Amino acid sequence: MLKHTVKHLKPYTPEKPLDDLKKELGLTNLVRMSANENPFGTSPEVKQAVANWNFSQSRDYPDGNASQLRMAVANQLHVASEQLVFGNGLDEVIALIARTFLEPGDEVVEPWPTFSEYRLHAEIEGAKVVDVPIQSETGNFDLGAMVQAITPRTKLIWLCNPNNPTGTLLSLAALTRFMRQVPENVLVLVDEAYIEFTDDYPATSAVSLLPQFDNLVVLRTFSKIYGLANFRVGFGIFPKQLVTYLQSVRLPYNLSTIAQLSAQAALADQRFVQTTRNRVQQARRSWETFLTDSALPHYTSQTNFQFFQAPQNQAYALKQELLQHGFLVRDGLMPGWLRITFGTADQNRAVQQVIQAFLVNLQSE
Ligand SMILES: *Cc1c(COP(=O)(O)O)cnc(C)c1O
Repeated sequence: MLKHTVKHLKPYTPEKPLDDLKKELGLTNLVRMSANENPFGTSPEVKQAVANWNFSQSRDYPDGNASQLRMAVANQLHVASEQLVFGNGLDEVIALIARTFLEPGDEVVEPWPTFSEYRLHAEIEGAKVVDVPIQSETGNFDLGAMVQAITPRTKLIWLCNPNNPTGTLLSLAALTRFMRQVPENVLVLVDEAYIEFTDDYPATSAVSLLPQFDNLVVLRTFSKIYGLANFRVGFGIFPKQLVTYLQSVRLPYNLSTIAQLSAQAALADQRFVQTTRNRVQQARRSWETFLTDSALPHYTSQTNFQFFQAPQNQAYALKQELLQHGFLVRDGLMPGWLRITFGTADQNRAVQQVIQAFLVNLQSE
């Protein structure tokens, strides 16, 4: 009775609630540095907006068109409001794209490693995913090989920029050259979940290329720099000729009113965004210096996390050591490598000290 493509899937293992994990490990303090959340929290304007919400609206369906949020985002990004499709988190937009475009036997090209949801939803639709390994020295996409991987069956190409988990940024010049080599009937999806953290934002964003290419989509989320992961708001900016189809497939009331007004309040507080960006840039410099000084192989990050190779293939041991000290980091994304979400300046220093002690210990063994 099961759909053929679903038979072998395993459910996504979400992060355990921090409190449960703390109890399990007997820790009083545990910092999650594994989910790329904003270490500086959420704008206080969001708290105010939620507190001011009229509870008697609970029984009413939300605005299925997210009209006010739509206008605010369109104004901020200088795009037409009809081009926007909102989702219950960007995750839902990724699922919606797969559901709208993919049929069994279609092909999807993506870099490897990258965000795992692209593959999951392509596979559910019976499409074949073609992984194109990143260039191991720099962590950059191998765009030449990605163009080579396109066949008459290719429908979608995913580019996560900056890429999760490598943290590397693809330049707009390189993206433009790539777009010129991609056939017009192949849709290129640029996932900009972390773009606001980049040094030269907004000049780094592909939004400015949208008028040039009818097969380009840019995706954004409120979960990362806006610190709103709990409210589940993401969106895509689509070519006008495709919007009707996505809106027809989308569930009608996918964003609650609280989610919509929270995102609006978060968007309006650009001072919080700017402060977060500055603090994340500082953290990035400190991590870059630390990893270089420690001679640990790593890629150049433009995000709020850092990807690096653990010494002597000891990724699991280092992860456990960090956990004992109250820091949860992410492994399993590329063999031997760990991904650490930046914390506050104090937390970063403490984590770096644990890593340093681990290195000293390894050398003396
Ligand atoms: C976190 C993340 C998302 C998902 O964001 P949500 O809006 O929380 O669903 C999408 N893409 C990438 C690359 C991410 O890291």
